[in-house]
Amino acid sequence: MAEQVEAQGQDVLDVAIIGAGPAGLTAALYATRAGLSCAMFEMLSPGGQCAQTEHLENYPGYTRSTSGFELSMDMYEQASSFGAKLVSEEVTGVDFTAEPNKLTTPFGTYFAKTVVVATGAAAASLGLPREEELRGRGVSYCATCDGNFFRDKDVVVVGGGNTAAADVIYLARICRKVYLVHRRDKLSATAIYHQRLAELENVEFCWDSVAEEFLTEDEARPRISGLRIRNTKTDAVRDLAVSAVFIAVGTRPNTAFLGGALALDAGGYIIADGTGRTATADVFAAGDVRTKELRQVVTAVADGANAAESAADFLNA
Ligand SMILES: Cc1cc2nc3c(=O)[nH]c(=O)nc-3n(C[C@H](O)[C@H](O)[C@H](O)COP(=O)(O)OP(=O)(O)OC[C@H]3O[C@@H](n4cnc5c(N)ncnc54)[C@H](O)[C@@H]3O)c2cc1C
Repeated sequence: MAEQVEAQGQDVLDVAIIGAGPAGLTAALYATRAGLSCAMFEMLSPGGQCAQTEHLENYPGYTRSTSGFELSMDMYEQASSFGAKLVSEEVTGVDFTAEPNKLTTPFGTYFAKTVVVATGAAAASLGLPREEELRGRGVSYCATCDGNFFRDKDVVVVGGGNTAAADVIYLARICRKVYLVHRRDKLSATAIYHQRLAELENVEFCWDSVAEEFLTEDEARPRISGLRIRNTKTDAVRDLAVSAVFIAVGTRPNTAFLGGALALDAGGYIIADGTGRTATADVFAAGDVRTKELRQVVTAVADGANAAESAADFLNA
């Protein structure tokens, strides 16, 4: 287990890492092995999105188990064994103009010579009325987490990218029928998914369609009973009778807490290159939260290593 940071605000860390997903855990491993004092700030539990991944089949060399949770715990133990500390607090504010840099959580203030932002991303919502209220009552953003609750039921997936395709494949194994609602007439998912989807007999594609309204039952304790969709070409409306709506329409970077302290692109991702360097010399970004093409565990860990090395270079200079 990681050592706790005891004296809040008393120590100046060499590296503060915000987020303990694959990127943050790897940054902590590289920073501590480079002899730097380092703490990871994590608002939930270590592992991030990776820990929610039931089967991780594309992490090189990782074949004995495919559990994202197990991989996350191994990464955490490894970083801890070299002295990385864990602060189980959400960073709610930063001041990168201060020297040293200042991080604020609901429980205290922390100081660090360098900061690695590795706060990842979260699933985007559809923005429909009652979406938040129905989250956990049939609205889900994680098929691998919640699919089993809807075993042998009819469900719908909304989206058209890799996550949506993977969700449909996963759900088709355990649910009776899976609808896929996509606003275009073909998926943007990579080719391997098209072939696998074509082989599934219990999947119905609703092309050129958008989700319009969640249908519910039992208004005292509302839960999903269907999804109203509209065909964007014909304007025809159809009600799908389903027990769950899985939303897979992309992700949003966790950067709101920065309050404008770093330059972001139009999507809200931190502008940083492969070395993790941002426009602020002593602040680095790693993993899903930074501008890049491929957001995966393997690219997140590479980013973590690079960002820690860049932080070490900065401190050495
Ligand atoms: C369902 C699902 C399946 C996936 N399947 C695969 C797959 O098969 N293969 C693959 O390679 N990738 C997969 N991915 C993607 C992969 O998990 C991510 O690319 C990877 O986890 C990104 O790592 P990260 O460290 O950048 O961010 P994250 O994993 O998102 O971790 C960020 C961490 O930062 C914490 N955090 C955020 N804000 C704050 C704050 N203000 N203060 C403190 N802590 C904060 C979060 O709680 C989180 O723990 C999947 C993702 C999901 C959701």
